[in-house]
Amino acid sequence: MNLEKILYNKDFTRDELVFLLSLEGEGMKMLLDRALEVKLREIGNKVHLRGLIEYSNVCRKSCLYCGVRSKNKNFSRYTMDDDEVIECAKLAMDMNYGSLAIQSGERSDGEFTDKITYLLKEIKRVSDGKLGITLSCGEQSDKVYRQWFEAGAHRYLLRIESTNKDLYYKIHPKDSIHSFETRINALKSLIENGYQAGTGVMIGLPFQSLKDLADDLLFIKNLDVAMVGMGPFIPHSDTPLYEFRDKIPSPRVRLDMTLKMIACLRLIMPKINMVAATADQTISPDGREDAIMAGANIIMPNLTPAKYRDKYMIYPNKANVNDKPDQTQDSLDSKLKTINHQVVYGKWGDSKAFIEKQD
Ligand code: SAH
Repeated sequence: MNLEKILYNKDFTRDELVFLLSLEGEGMKMLLDRALEVKLREIGNKVHLRGLIEYSNVCRKSCLYCGVRSKNKNFSRYTMDDDEVIECAKLAMDMNYGSLAIQSGERSDGEFTDKITYLLKEIKRVSDGKLGITLSCGEQSDKVYRQWFEAGAHRYLLRIESTNKDLYYKIHPKDSIHSFETRINALKSLIENGYQAGTGVMIGLPFQSLKDLADDLLFIKNLDVAMVGMGPFIPHSDTPLYEFRDKIPSPRVRLDMTLKMIACLRLIMPKINMVAATADQTISPDGREDAIMAGANIIMPNLTPAKYRDKYMIYPNKANVNDKPDQTQDSLDSKLKTINHQVVYGKWGDSKAFIEKQD
């Protein structure tokens, strides 16, 4: 295949994507450079922030990769108090972040879903409607998604994790609460309810092939989502997938694969919002900036109170666990400046792909 020619395509076949994902060295650099060029042309050098609140590590699921899976009894469970959540929202306001992201383990009981509704309304009230809110609280019923949307959430991130159904069931228990179909239907429900819906996958999973990753990209394109969060898989010793830690690519290769996935998606979906994930930075100190240079445009600085940070260990050695929010801001500004990017303050930073679809 002729790389220079393919890089000017907007759509790719599965084989072409496999070719792009297998690039190394100079070829890989050409792909990343092209993605950066497309990003700068379509959405500019702006980076939007979502202050991250890791609301609760209580989870009804037992995903085989995730450190907060319900079967892991090696740490204590917490749910933040209402006041603590509101303090985080105020902190975000003080630092002039345009948006918050509330992430948590998955619970579907009414006590939890009503609490999120309440918190959404409170955050809207105390911020005078100024803070945009992304939720990432797993699979919920159509009714709950509607309730949360009406209460003020307008973006929702639910990664499909892998679009290969066989692989999906190698990384999730095979039972009714970990159903592939339910996850797909939840994504469709989010889109129908008017959210800027986001999805994504983990990269470098055991048993995952380049064809799987190419199919993941085609699935994301086909679903026409407004945003995407993808990141490297990081094995956690308290999870069943740890057994396969020697059978996955090295951290550097997983990060490079993540960068190539981001770059390919930027070529196919030039105007979506794409996160430079904390996991990128966890496996390499400059991973987050590398992701920005490969086409990502969103960063999620962690606002979770210090006492909870080490209990939201979906994967080990999470970057920034000890960061203080105000220091984060200074170093983020200057780090991004060195790569010619600029943090945007005080704006929601909605997906351009989504906004243009509404018009
Ligand atoms: N309960 C919510 C939020 C999950 S945590 C939900 O189901 O959507 C957010 C993301 O972290 C997950 O979607 C998953 O892709 C990622 N994640 C979990 N464990 C991981 C691991 N060991 N390595 C890398 N990413 C992981």
